[in-house]
Amino acid sequence: MWPYLPELMSRPVPRYTSYPPATAFSDSVGERDQLEALNAVRSGDHVSLYAHIPYCRSICWYCGCNTGAASKAHRLTSYLEALEHEITLVAKILGGRAKISRIAFGGGSPNAIDPLAFVRLVDRMTTMFSAGAPEISVEIDPRAFTLEWAMTLAVAQVSRVSFGVQSFDPGIQAAIGRIQPVDMIETCMNALRARGVRGINFDLMYGLPTQTIASLDSTLDDVVRLRPNRIALFGYAHLPSMFPRQRRIDTAALPDNRARFEQAAHGYERLVAEGYRPIGFDHFALPDDPMAIAADKGLVRRNFQGFTDDPAETVIGMGASAISMFPHLIIQNEKNAGVYRDQCSQSRLSGNRGIHRCKGDQQRAKIIENLLCSGRASIGQGWPKQVQQALSDYQQMGLVNMAEGEIAISDDALPYARHVAAVFDEKLALAKSY
Ligand code: SF4
Repeated sequence: MWPYLPELMSRPVPRYTSYPPATAFSDSVGERDQLEALNAVRSGDHVSLYAHIPYCRSICWYCGCNTGAASKAHRLTSYLEALEHEITLVAKILGGRAKISRIAFGGGSPNAIDPLAFVRLVDRMTTMFSAGAPEISVEIDPRAFTLEWAMTLAVAQVSRVSFGVQSFDPGIQAAIGRIQPVDMIETCMNALRARGVRGINFDLMYGLPTQTIASLDSTLDDVVRLRPNRIALFGYAHLPSMFPRQRRIDTAALPDNRARFEQAAHGYERLVAEGYRPIGFDHFALPDDPMAIAADKGLVRRNFQGFTDDPAETVIGMGASAISMFPHLIIQNEKNAGVYRDQCSQSRLSGNRGIHRCKGDQQRAKIIENLLCSGRASIGQGWPKQVQQALSDYQQMGLVNMAEGEIAISDDALPYARHVAAVFDEKLALAKSY
């Protein structure tokens, strides 16, 4: 049973899909740093690729992604041309040194583009980077899914597809501007599984307008019947001042902090009871899924795509707003698709925000990642007084156990894993007090 600690739950902490997190990025990092980092990739280094498609057929009201409507064909075409330019440029700089074993397509919705254009992108990426037979994963909007897409993904040898599901409750779907009945998702899954695409992920949400434990449970009834291989259960973040499209969501219909907490706890208990292995604080996988196997071996990692079994230390993001992670540098491409297109057409790299990671940052990043992925970390000695005090406070609250330079998050303290990890976030400490 998770204890509800309102003061802690109301304290905002980053999701730590990287350390330092995106809130610490600045524009002091740019194209030259990106080029240096790419040049520093050594022969045989494992590198994963990510391609960002910032367009969707239909925009959901709750969405916090960098995406726009795919209503103008010429916009998509010129964006894809720019992306192909960037792929060619980055591949040339790497000169075949990297070992590419994974390629991920995200967005937005990669299936907002034409299936043939997708095949061309896959072909360009695998050919230009000499990728052999990489594991390919794609985020898919079920509302824009067709039989042609099922065949395309199978032909392109995609092995994992993530569906944005959020909730199967028709009232909640209406309240978030995303209508997709359960049989639509079931048809998509059947079409993929029949063609050999076995890895299916669902993204679900709690904390949505009008959502209750009963409606979450009803969604989970359908989820466990459909049996996706992986599930992510995220809390909806309502930030209408940052994402104006969220203004269409009725703030008064949102569950309060306590209700959100109870929904997260219920989702966790239900999915574990249904045989899913918990991964980190918000992912779940069937026991035979590679992510669950990696978790059993303590090999789960965290990157911009969330929890992952990808061991690569370097992820190169391509496309507008895509983020690349190198051991010494995190850098984000230009967010504006128009400016991004112009830069690519001039054969320029478009990274223009980010942060260098010094040795100290890398040490803190490892501790934060280990705490979030496996619930424990070796922290060594010599931390500043504020860090020791914060850890001791958490120990007294029963959230962590400490012994001989090791720290472990208590079994019932999973909802506070990010708060414990935040103790090691120097950037947060510089901005506020511990
Ligand atoms: S499909 Fe996904 S990326 Fe596109 S608007 Fe909806 S939530 Fe956002």
